[in-house]
Amino acid sequence: MLDRNGRSIEYVRLSITDRCNLRCRYCMPESGVTSLRHEELLTFEEIVRIVKQLPPLGIHAVRLTGGEPMVRRDCMELIRMLHDLEGIDRIAMTTNGILLKGRVAEAKEAGLQAVNISLDTLDKEQYAYITRRGRLEEVMETIEEAIEAGLKVELNVVPLKGINEDCLCEVARLAKKAPVAVRFIELMPIGCARTLEPVPLDQVRSRMNQAFGELREDTATHGLGPATYVKPPGFIGSLGFIGAITHEFCGSCNRIRITPEGKLKLCLNHQPAMDLREMLRHGCEDSELREKIREAIWNKPLHHGFLEKLPDREERRMNQIGG
Ligand code: SAM
Ligand code: SF4
Repeated sequence: MLDRNGRSIEYVRLSITDRCNLRCRYCMPESGVTSLRHEELLTFEEIVRIVKQLPPLGIHAVRLTGGEPMVRRDCMELIRMLHDLEGIDRIAMTTNGILLKGRVAEAKEAGLQAVNISLDTLDKEQYAYITRRGRLEEVMETIEEAIEAGLKVELNVVPLKGINEDCLCEVARLAKKAPVAVRFIELMPIGCARTLEPVPLDQVRSRMNQAFGELREDTATHGLGPATYVKPPGFIGSLGFIGAITHEFCGSCNRIRITPEGKLKLCLNHQPAMDLREMLRHGCEDSELREKIREAIWNKPLHHGFLEKLPDREERRMNQIGG
């Protein structure tokens, strides 16, 4: 469906947990994290009931995210349940990849078609520094598994000034030999990230240009979201750029989000619009649920307003809202 600003809303990001096995510096503090209690989370049945309302509104694609979606027990079962829903024709997951190791085939069999794996560097020490808990070898194994299984694979890199800057070309080079898209995501000033410095995407792009030559637009590569893709000469895969701040993508935003506790969010940086869990647990009908969601989508905010003082600015961390 279209929102009041004429944007076609086509995809939902379902954050299924705020918990994570890592503690990436731009996303979560090292300690002192309080997580939602089990009964606060939407159950799988509640998630399915909400997602069932979306195809009639024109939303046919789902991405599981978090926190780390793979820490939610029986995540594979949820993929299967979503896959069985009429009108849902694309299921993807954004993951740090660690707990998916050895389980890619199972996920594919359950209905997963695409995976975005976070990989900020190929340097073991940098990886351990950024994630505070992760081992690079494990993610690399999952990436190989996912490519071999024939899933659509994208790698998410957040360029951080003075931290992984020197390794960006090395990560990009993975797309030379393998059918993956390496996507650079500009750091968004949410939660913990406010103390870190981004590398502006124009700089990243010109480094790629210097290293790999002309960056031709790659119109054949499409993710679900706002990235623009290029293909350097001789590359099998492609490079993507998501300039959240320096190239605001709000004009083409096509997504809504549902938080682990069932809040409907229409924009990353604005407070939730609705409490879907409350409605479900108070016995609302499907038709009422669908109409409320339709109404909320119609009023989706036009801009994220990261650089403004918003009255309803989101104060929670990325792992709580689903990056
Ligand atoms: N745990 C999963 C993962 O890391 O892929 C899924 C959740 S994570 C919040 C989703 C994506 O958001 C990751 O690719 C991560 O790099 C990105 N992210 C987290 N905090 C961010 C920030 N402040 N700015 C830009 N991207 C961020
Ligand atoms: Fe966990 Fe993903 Fe956040 Fe890293 S970015 S702490 S892996 S939720």
